[in-house]
Amino acid sequence: MKQINLISDTITKPNDAMLQYMMQAEVGDDVFGQDPTINALEKKLANMFGKEAAIFCPSGTMTNQIAIKCHTNALDELICEKTSHVYQYETGGYSYNSRVAINLIDGENGKLKPHQITEAIRPDYDWLPNSTLVSIENSCNKGGGSYYDLQEMKAISENCQKHDLRLHLDGARLFNVLVETEDKPNEIGPLFDSISICLSKGLGAPVGSVLIGNSAFIKKARKFRKVMGGGMRQAGYLAAACMYALDHNIPQLKTDNQNAKNIGRELRHLSYVEAVKPVKTNILIFTIVDNVEVNDILQQLQDKGIIASQFGPKDIRFVTHNGFEENDINDLMERMKTIEI
Ligand SMILES: *Cc1c(COP(=O)(O)O)cnc(C)c1O
Repeated sequence: MKQINLISDTITKPNDAMLQYMMQAEVGDDVFGQDPTINALEKKLANMFGKEAAIFCPSGTMTNQIAIKCHTNALDELICEKTSHVYQYETGGYSYNSRVAINLIDGENGKLKPHQITEAIRPDYDWLPNSTLVSIENSCNKGGGSYYDLQEMKAISENCQKHDLRLHLDGARLFNVLVETEDKPNEIGPLFDSISICLSKGLGAPVGSVLIGNSAFIKKARKFRKVMGGGMRQAGYLAAACMYALDHNIPQLKTDNQNAKNIGRELRHLSYVEAVKPVKTNILIFTIVDNVEVNDILQQLQDKGIIASQFGPKDIRFVTHNGFEENDINDLMERMKTIEI
């Protein structure tokens, strides 16, 4: 029985062509800024988003944390949606690394509205933190892969500028969005003070995230990357994988999104599925009916070779990726139909 692993798009492994490309990379010591492949990757992403500079990091957690650190001082407050990765899944790093407070907004499927940001801004009193930074996620992981289109991002950006707030984009899966909306990276870049991109998810690189911003911001980011222990040496081998991913693997994301949508349509017919969140990209969150335990379903899925994760008290998440093909959908559904409740 073939294993169907939908736990995350982070499980993707480099294919032979990517490995070949990695092996021929020219490398140097990136702490001295002398790794030509890393320099080329940073330049490529900065140019793509119409920004001045970028910095290669080991993870998306690090790029987000560095961004928060660069944009804030202690006693500031970060505004974000309550399900966002920077709040839920970064070990409380905003508080540990940056000593900032957090103002959580209850959005819709992970998305914020401009007026909610305005309402979250603190008046200037001694006893309140300073509202300085907003972080939005695109696509929204816990929102079930929902996304902001260009107009929605523009509206948020304009509102942040109006209120003198910095704006960070956690774009871990931004390219899954761009293949849907066909918005251009160089239209998105100017809307944000910083952008984080993950190459190690659906794009298939083994390691790597990039933080993009203006030159002064990236100069500051290099210092914080170093103090967090993220200054790497001949990491150009990894940057080469990211380069390969950008050059070859973006179209795959469209397929991943389509597969998730097709699974979503089928799941609705299963008796133990109460609801499926609208499927917009490659993330699929579905709710199990009241009288059935999520753990029981996950165990039965696992016994049938299907790996998924719990994503809330009654929710299960599937994430599609290049290891899941269109003709795996039938197989997946056949196995899911045999689950007993
Ligand atoms: C995966 C992810 C990150 C970064 O995660 P790392 O595992 O640290 O690379 C950040 N934001 C979102 C929304 C993510 O899904």
